[in-house]
Amino acid sequence: MHRLHTLYLGAAASLLFGASSFAMAAPANPFETPSTLPLQAPPFDKIKDTDYKPAFEEAMKQHLAEVEAIANDKAAPTFENTFVALEKSGRMLDRVDMAFFGVAQANTNPTLDKTRADVAPELAAHQDAIFLNPKLFARVKAVYDKRDRLKLDPESAQLLKVYYLKFVHAGANLSDADKAKLREINKEDASLETTFQQKLIAATKDGALVVDDKAQLAGLSEGEIAAAAKAAADRGLKGKYLIPLQNTTQQPLLVSLSDRGVRERLFDNSWTRTEKGDANDTRATIARIAQLRAEKAKLLGYPNYAAYALYNQMAETPAAVEAFLGQLIGPTGDKAAEEARLIQAAVDKSGKHFELRPWDWERYSEQVRKEKYDLNEDELKPYFELDRVLKDGVFYAATQLYGITFKERHDIPVYQPDVRVFDVFDKDGSQLGMIYFDYFKRDNKSGGAWMSNFVNQTTLLGTKPVVYNVANFTKPAPGEPALLSFDDVTTMFHEFGHALHGLFATQKYQTLSGTNVARDFVEFPSQFNENWALDPTVLKHYAINYKTGKPIPQELVDKIKKSQTWVRAISWANCSRPPNSTCSGTNLTQAHPSRTSTSSRKRRSGKRTPTIPTCPRATGPATSCISGQTVTRPVTMRINGP
Ligand SMILES: [Zn+2]
Repeated sequence: MHRLHTLYLGAAASLLFGASSFAMAAPANPFETPSTLPLQAPPFDKIKDTDYKPAFEEAMKQHLAEVEAIANDKAAPTFENTFVALEKSGRMLDRVDMAFFGVAQANTNPTLDKTRADVAPELAAHQDAIFLNPKLFARVKAVYDKRDRLKLDPESAQLLKVYYLKFVHAGANLSDADKAKLREINKEDASLETTFQQKLIAATKDGALVVDDKAQLAGLSEGEIAAAAKAAADRGLKGKYLIPLQNTTQQPLLVSLSDRGVRERLFDNSWTRTEKGDANDTRATIARIAQLRAEKAKLLGYPNYAAYALYNQMAETPAAVEAFLGQLIGPTGDKAAEEARLIQAAVDKSGKHFELRPWDWERYSEQVRKEKYDLNEDELKPYFELDRVLKDGVFYAATQLYGITFKERHDIPVYQPDVRVFDVFDKDGSQLGMIYFDYFKRDNKSGGAWMSNFVNQTTLLGTKPVVYNVANFTKPAPGEPALLSFDDVTTMFHEFGHALHGLFATQKYQTLSGTNVARDFVEFPSQFNENWALDPTVLKHYAINYKTGKPIPQELVDKIKKSQTWVRAISWANCSRPPNSTCSGTNLTQAHPSRTSTSSRKRRSGKRTPTIPTCPRATGPATSCISGQTVTRPVTMRINGP
């Protein structure tokens, strides 16, 4: 859900409620007071997994009391005593919410899973308690109705409008009976979205392919085979080999595995991971979510959920979305068919006699790429060492463009040892914000890549942005360099584009701050930033062979550029499925288990920057797309620069 449900209370009231019984009864909870770390970064060294649940409960209690005080204010409603007050309320909820969902998405465990399942319906009910509060809405509406006479600055005028529409959209105008129905729907929906997310992570882990015989791994490098042996041993399967599923439909090793049967098993494990009729099967969950959302849309006067969900997006209507996507379907279908023909020809030429199937696509399209463009991924990887790409590529481009600089620091507690933290300084040397990077794949991490905030920027509350980028790159063996594909490199630049959007925020109100923009606008800064990955000056600066120290030869660069269009069409075709008018969830999950993976977390009541996931590529080396925030959200796309 887009983050518009921001509710705050005035500073005086915050102080008043800050001294709650909770504070006295359980002073050890690290969320009780603002973090004393730089920029109020979450104190992960002090936060225990068991702290979140009681903190959520106390934070919701405090927030509700703050909101009640606003709703029951004896003074006539004003922008200041209603909207600014709402904007200042819920500080503790903010703290716990942003830390919790950041960690639960990237580094979950049974305690966090249980907390998430427990708090999801409570947060939905909390949100309804605020947005369906008639006294509060009366105040909001009273100020909104006289907005033309208030002479508000543009940002305040926008805040007013956003809040008002959010209240209406949340059901503030419904009858009491319909509000009661809506509350039940929202609660069940929130629980089911959590269920979906947790099943997907579990199914992805369970879907790993176990191979008994090393010979069946023919085509993999020694390093990849060693990693598979270690992955098996880590799960108590010593002597076997395990290929964990990446959270994409197509698995990276499908390019290399020469045993067609093993490829098919790997593909099948991936494709059907949530459709095995076991405890992780998501189909019934999705169907029920779709049903609930259709009911909700109807209750709120919309023909379907897509229409309801698009109310504050740039596209505005399902018809507009379908028109955009409709333009792509013909040309991409034709191009994909042409690509399939070339790939089939590569199969035939190899002396094999079978019809091209999905598990063959990656392997043989790579062969066409090698032949057509003379480009080999393995040839590229030594030039894309993660640390160098980050510092000499991603950071370098930002320094050249905006004058901002970065300095790694090791004194900020992190939630997992692989996470790295950097200060970000503006061109005048002042601190702009802070950024965390959590790049390596783990079994307890959602799939894809995304950006979000631990602390939102707001001049009203005097906070600077603390943002993070998360991805799922393969972790190297100890002592080995982390070598990336060019697709991974593009992902780094892409997610960092979102991070820049968050870091450059200069808003007064956090409801409008940073990436809190229309979902179909938010990909602009990230796509823009992607293009620097191939900029000649930037590329020459970071693409240095880690063994020889030599920069990438121009010949290889030309090949990368030329090959950018290869298998683009099939990726587009995969990404451009129009949203179903009531729910695209079932379609999406059948087509792309990955598409929904990073995105199904239910937004909570608190205001917070939405996580921005990148849907991992379905097929093809160079195209990714963006999923909507939840399983039933419309799909938008991202295209890599040509
Ligand atoms: Zn993105």
